Amino acid sequence: MDLLLEGGTIVTMDPERRVISGDVHVRDGAIVGVGEIDPKAFCGRTIRRLDCSGRIVIPGLVQSHIHLCQTLFRGHADGLELLDWLRQRVWPLEGAHTFESMKASARLGIAELVRGGTTACLDMATVRHTDAIFEAAVETGLRLTCGKAMMDVSRGSPAGLRESTKASLEESDALLERWHEKEGGRIRYAYAPRFVLSCTETLLREVADRCREQGVTIHTHASENQSELEAVRERSGMDNVAYLDHLGISGPNVALAHCVWLTAHEQRLLADAHTNLLHCPSSNLKLGSGIAKVPELLGMGVPVSLGADGAPCNNNLDMWIEMRLASLIHLPRVGPTGLTAEKVFEMATLGGARAMGIEDRVGSIEAGKRADIVVLDLDVPHASPPGESIYGRLVYSARSSDVETVMIDGDLVLDRRILTSLDLEQVLADAKEHSRRIVEQVS
Ligand SMILES: [Zn+2]
Repeated sequence: MDLLLEGGTIVTMDPERRVISGDVHVRDGAIVGVGEIDPKAFCGRTIRRLDCSGRIVIPGLVQSHIHLCQTLFRGHADGLELLDWLRQRVWPLEGAHTFESMKASARLGIAELVRGGTTACLDMATVRHTDAIFEAAVETGLRLTCGKAMMDVSRGSPAGLRESTKASLEESDALLERWHEKEGGRIRYAYAPRFVLSCTETLLREVADRCREQGVTIHTHASENQSELEAVRERSGMDNVAYLDHLGISGPNVALAHCVWLTAHEQRLLADAHTNLLHCPSSNLKLGSGIAKVPELLGMGVPVSLGADGAPCNNNLDMWIEMRLASLIHLPRVGPTGLTAEKVFEMATLGGARAMGIEDRVGSIEAGKRADIVVLDLDVPHASPPGESIYGRLVYSARSSDVETVMIDGDLVLDRRILTSLDLEQVLADAKEHSRRIVEQVS
């Protein structure tokens, strides 16, 4: 069956950044036409028509840094800086997950993401039960790249998260085999060493070698917080990002969350290697980490994308909040024209797709790309009147509650605000139950 999204205002994010009135024609999960569609294109085929008149049609939002395994811990780790947040709350909580609680956590996160127009994410799981997250993505239709967190240094981590270097690599290799490029490419694997302090140098080198050979994404955290930086310097004698670069963890297939604290040399390393910076403004503010120098880094050519990080450090997984914050928090430093709404919207779509290594598949509404599309109703008080710039309206005014319909790979996963692949009441009940059990267990 063909699908026709009819009569909307389409924010294409194509190379000319066209914003056009017209239709989007979808066949077999791919976009086959945008704008004026010749009726001959449907000749002899069944068509489902979605009326998008008065609506804004945008590419699905892509979050490049998420932890679906932490969604159950929302509201259970407030008021802590990074290393205390990890050691006192998040690691013990992650270590108490079962396969079933992991699935409940992923389903809750996916319900929130999809309802807010996020169609794809780069996720870091915890040490165990990563299959549960992949299974939840298969069930729900989310476009997911995920990797198990690799933690072969056990200092500060609970028994449930301990693993040897060999076991960490073997399990990652097996997960890659099981999940990479599955479901027609919608599901992919990324190696995810948690951060330098959780990993031996041997493990980091092994990951770098594997990913270089196989062109697989490496997803890690770097230079989020000053105490982390000091500890990395103490261990390696180098600055964090310089150390990762020295081990071969840099380049277009590398995605580094945060990068709040970089030396001038490290900024240059990211730019020269085209290493992806995953900017998480809410998380960086809530943990009191600092503010990454995003406008300056963009100016140097560093690819930047956006993510909400985990529910316990945000406490939302809402891309509209991240877009709004990313567009505003840098301006007192660089001035009101230092980062445009259009650039921020690009970070939230094409930027995320690039960080995930799938910019040839998603991130814009163009013939040949997969049909990851979001329909918004902005005929609401907080986004009216339309104003002069569609990007300003999207980034400064729109909210996740304006998302009406979401399509991933041509499947309607949110149909006029109803989740089609999840029973929301059940998801909320399961989340409450599993969260209560885990929190009781660790306290
Ligand atoms: Zn994170």
